[in-house]
Amino acid sequence: QMARLTAVKTLAGFDFAFQPSLDKSRVIALAELQFIDRAEAVHLIGPPGTGKTHLSLALGVEAVKAGRSVYFASLADVIATLARAEREGTLREKIRYFCRFALLIVDEIGYLPVTPGGGNLFFQLVNARYERGAMILTSNRGFAEWGEIFGDPVVATALLDRLLHHAVVFQIEGSSYRLREHADLLPEH
Ligand code: ADP
Ligand code: MG
Repeated sequence: QMARLTAVKTLAGFDFAFQPSLDKSRVIALAELQFIDRAEAVHLIGPPGTGKTHLSLALGVEAVKAGRSVYFASLADVIATLARAEREGTLREKIRYFCRFALLIVDEIGYLPVTPGGGNLFFQLVNARYERGAMILTSNRGFAEWGEIFGDPVVATALLDRLLHHAVVFQIEGSSYRLREHADLLPEH
């Protein structure tokens, strides 16, 4: 999955001038990959089209180039995979499998409501990786909304407890790159 996308999204191909709220040097520093050695959680938060998926893939590309193993999936896909494993009685094996990757990228937290029990499954994975493996998480919504996203404030609090302990947070406040040629059609902000 990574290999198919590596050719397209790179740090060199990211126009930082378009997204001035994003500290370019902090992003470039991530490409040195110490966050992987430190098993940190990197959060990319911002509205649709601000480059969260692009940057997470580009950092994944850098990690692969450095010989690290990377897994990229949406939150919905990660939870569906865990739920299937649970039904088949192989949840522990599946969590162990996810823990083998040096970097786990979980894209699109907050776009889709999490299925019942999904937050609990994701917590088990996050807890297993906590202080052992790095993650990049992207979301269009702030941490205060995680209770709503995961449908369970207790699970959301437990998740954030792990995911904010050794964490780097990037808040992107710009407009959508997808819509850059249609700015005249958008409400002012
Ligand atoms: P998000 O995940 O935040 O919704 P994406 O990363 O998918 O946004 O970006 C949407 C599209 O715009 C992608 O094709 C991406 O490569 C491109 N893009 C976004 N921001 C930039 C940027 N600053 N420079 C170059 N391309 C960008
Ligand atoms: Mg995206």
